Amino acid sequence: MKGRVYDIQGFSIQDGPGIRTTVFLKGCPLRCPWCHSPESQQFHPQLSWMASRCVGIEDCGKCLAACPRLAISPGKFAENPATQKTIRHIHIDRTKCDNCGECASVCTRKALYVCGTDYTVDDLVARLSKDIPFYEHSGGGVTISGGEPLSQSEFTLQLLTALKRRNIHTAVDTTGFAGYETIQSILPCTDLFLYDLKHMDCAQHRTVTGVANELILENAQRIARAGGKLQVRLPVIPSFNDSEENVRETGIFCKSLGNAVTLIQLLPYHNLGVMKYQRIDDSKPVLEAPVPSDEKIAALRRVLEDLQLPVTVH
Ligand code: SF4
Ligand code: SF4
Repeated sequence: MKGRVYDIQGFSIQDGPGIRTTVFLKGCPLRCPWCHSPESQQFHPQLSWMASRCVGIEDCGKCLAACPRLAISPGKFAENPATQKTIRHIHIDRTKCDNCGECASVCTRKALYVCGTDYTVDDLVARLSKDIPFYEHSGGGVTISGGEPLSQSEFTLQLLTALKRRNIHTAVDTTGFAGYETIQSILPCTDLFLYDLKHMDCAQHRTVTGVANELILENAQRIARAGGKLQVRLPVIPSFNDSEENVRETGIFCKSLGNAVTLIQLLPYHNLGVMKYQRIDDSKPVLEAPVPSDEKIAALRRVLEDLQLPVTVH
């Protein structure tokens, strides 16, 4: 069986304990407007274009001729930051593109690439095993992230099982939006869940992310009862979930999970995803909000610490 991966990042230090390698799987059932990895949302492979790498159609233009669907045409004029020369970019008609990757195969500058590669469990484990010395020296391991890893549940289960056979510490970074039977199946081979709690109010959660939060909260309770460990992640999104009231309610919920919660991570909103949206489809709306101030984050941190919860900010 194969899983669809859009990135593998080594030397990750924010996705669980120690130095980790994080595998990002494609596909997610939520549509958070602040998502900083929009290329993770769709399950299918997606053509990406990085404007900063493109040298322009006058000096290259190989992709125009390579596209069998005539989806690429001359685009806007822009300045090449490396040479300060005015160049003409490409325009991709996404309604014609079927993500076949022919254009990417001729783009020597790697401005065009297809996001989403299929791996067998064996191939991926071979790649991840190369980093075992780092895991061993730092108390790290492998984190499976996304997207939503539980949307590729069978692949995730097989990958986790294979990693545990090699004594590698495993973490799963999840929205918690999955049937409990899926979570139950991976519990024995998951050392830690990195578990997102985006809002305690169900209606707001549904309006903004596209799904309700009842299943997510219930799954957290069931993981805790089953002896699983949770590192809870709170993305701090301006005008959505950044009130002290919501963070206090989240903290009280975490308290109710007892010692299953090992840490709460406050993740201040950042707008790095905006650029990534443009790479896959520049017509999509994204949230562009001010980054929360240090004072704001400190105040939210105090709310959780007052509840005697272990908190970190990343
Ligand atoms: S092949 Fe690559 S570098 Fe050349 S014009 Fe197309 S996108 Fe730009
Ligand atoms: S991925 Fe295929 S269809 Fe899409 S622009 Fe490139 S060559 Fe054309």
